Amino acid sequence: MNVLVINCGSSSLKFQLINSDTEQVLAKGLCERIGIDGSLTYQPEGGEKVKSDKPMPTHTEAIQYVIDALTDAGTGVVKSLDEIGAVGHRVVHGGEKFASSVVITDEVLQAIEECNDLAPLHNPANLIGINACQKLMPGTPMVAVFDTAFHQTMPEEAYMYGLPYEYYEKYKVRRYGFHGTSHSFVSKRAAEIVGKPYEELRTIVCHLGNGASICAVKNGRSVDTSMGLTPLEGLVMGTRSGDIDPAIMEFIAKKEGLDIAGLMNMLNKKSGVLGLSNNLSSDFRDLDAGAKEGNKQAAVALKVFAYRVAKYVGAYAAAMNGVDVIAFTAGVGENSGPVRADVLGYLGYLGIEVDEEANNTRGEEITISTPDSKVKVMVIPTNEELAIARETVALV
Ligand code: ADP
Repeated sequence: MNVLVINCGSSSLKFQLINSDTEQVLAKGLCERIGIDGSLTYQPEGGEKVKSDKPMPTHTEAIQYVIDALTDAGTGVVKSLDEIGAVGHRVVHGGEKFASSVVITDEVLQAIEECNDLAPLHNPANLIGINACQKLMPGTPMVAVFDTAFHQTMPEEAYMYGLPYEYYEKYKVRRYGFHGTSHSFVSKRAAEIVGKPYEELRTIVCHLGNGASICAVKNGRSVDTSMGLTPLEGLVMGTRSGDIDPAIMEFIAKKEGLDIAGLMNMLNKKSGVLGLSNNLSSDFRDLDAGAKEGNKQAAVALKVFAYRVAKYVGAYAAAMNGVDVIAFTAGVGENSGPVRADVLGYLGYLGIEVDEEANNTRGEEITISTPDSKVKVMVIPTNEELAIARETVALV
């Protein structure tokens, strides 16, 4: 079956058409600047990437262009919409309502809308994408795959904040976690590679991209993860602060005359390695280059990033009473040998021995620990689109 995977943002829409039997990507692309002017980037398998300007007042026009491109007589990869068996939608927040992916019905749409409060930037955009697809592909089954669902297995001690209980009761203020599709995909793959049952393995997945989170997966279930109510908690990220003393908010607000919106903007967009490097960059390639050229703040940013990752790994080894596999994934985790080496440099006490040559490899699935290492350390490229396609097929 061909599955169209849709990842919809407020002004963008990423898509892939995947043949679920061969797991081949038949075509992929991106609509940008929806509601502003609009452009479509489209690439069929084995073909060239082509970007063209298209008027996209709403997501409905964007999806129509995607369908046109996929079914185009020249560059298309299917003859008609009938050849698309299902659509899998990435949805960011499923709250406590969704512990797994679901076939989209009117009730499901309603329940997703009730989670809008928890992800006001993301969920409404996801819903717009679903509505637009339903309008243009009325007979095609659709599935929602949630970033939060995999973490719904976390125990109370991991998901409750030390806050007045009434906020949990009234508003569901608790830790949810994100990147669940990636943590699930990578931890399953780790079990396959080591040849042990998923249900008997303790894995720590380090999803280190522009957004970054860590997850403790024990016996096939997420038992803790570093992001919280929102994706701001946890690691130091590209532009997000991660964990800080919450009293810093009041302190900086008074000094700089910032209101809540200004503070949130600072913590989400101006902090992380970007802020630490004194605005050099949020991109680890720039920070690497900067540090090599003697930029002290770039070096500090990299050190703070790796130290925070190592602290979380230590915490999750404790949470699971040990760890069998540590897996690195996403842009930084897959590509940066130096960041991995810095993190692993703290973890010798776990009996980890790093194969330095293997660690210098980029962007491919590889074991980077030595055969004697007590914990297996791996690089496993994530593939959230494929994971969404698999979930979609399983449900329809
Ligand atoms: P997201 O999906 O959160 O936007 P990605 O997982 O795509 O992020 O990761 C993007 C980040 O990966 C970039 O900001 C960059 O810092 C990092 N990255 C990509 N390639 C390399 C590389 N060769 N070395 C170091 N970092 C890299």
